[in-house]
Amino acid sequence: MIAEEIKIITSELPAGVKLIAVSKFHPVEAVMEAYDVGQRLFGENKVQEMTAKHEVLPADIQWHFIGHLQTNKVKYIAPFVAMIHSIDSLHLLQEVDRQAEKAGRIIDVLLQIHIAHEETKFGMTFDECRELLNEGTWRQLTHVRICGLMGMATFTDDMIQVEHEFASLQAFLEELKSKWFAGETAFKELSMGMTEDYPIAIRHGSTFIRIGTMIFGERNYNK
Ligand SMILES: *Cc1c(COP(=O)(O)O)cnc(C)c1O
Repeated sequence: MIAEEIKIITSELPAGVKLIAVSKFHPVEAVMEAYDVGQRLFGENKVQEMTAKHEVLPADIQWHFIGHLQTNKVKYIAPFVAMIHSIDSLHLLQEVDRQAEKAGRIIDVLLQIHIAHEETKFGMTFDECRELLNEGTWRQLTHVRICGLMGMATFTDDMIQVEHEFASLQAFLEELKSKWFAGETAFKELSMGMTEDYPIAIRHGSTFIRIGTMIFGERNYNK
């Protein structure tokens, strides 16, 4: 079942779109089922869970952190995380830079933008993000590489609204590319699209889709 879903998704992916299998709340055995059919990118949203899985699972897994990240926990994932999708403040970006330097690495990150019409989703507004970039400190951080943007659409059946939200993030990426990242080829990633909306996200330029439920089934939050 897990193997089949991964094959279905990856066989239809356009070139340049990468699948992150979101394994949060699922056991290491489920991760290994996906690993055994070639899946290498996995997403987690809790520091403790990601660290625990990293310790026991194969070293060539690329761990993508996709949840809200507290500054005091960056140190636990800095030695191994492949990409942090959830940078929502300069303060957090600076802490990732500091911990990356300690670990002797450069960490790839995405700026998380609040595109949903919901109070509950994290991320910066477009203006907060522009302010962060205008302020300029980020240019001095030598151990983080800003690779693009991440966003989550509103949880709704209204696919027109979802489409508008993804389109707005795609347009914002182009704005940032021309205003602040001209000539910086690393700045090109768009992390958007989950089980319910990933085909729409792909139509709007997504380069990382983050899929959990479709691959692993429903999550049991009561464990
Ligand atoms: C859980 C989660 C996903 C996966 O969602 P599904 O609907 O299960 O595919 C994607 N992105 C983020 C940020 C998540 O927290």
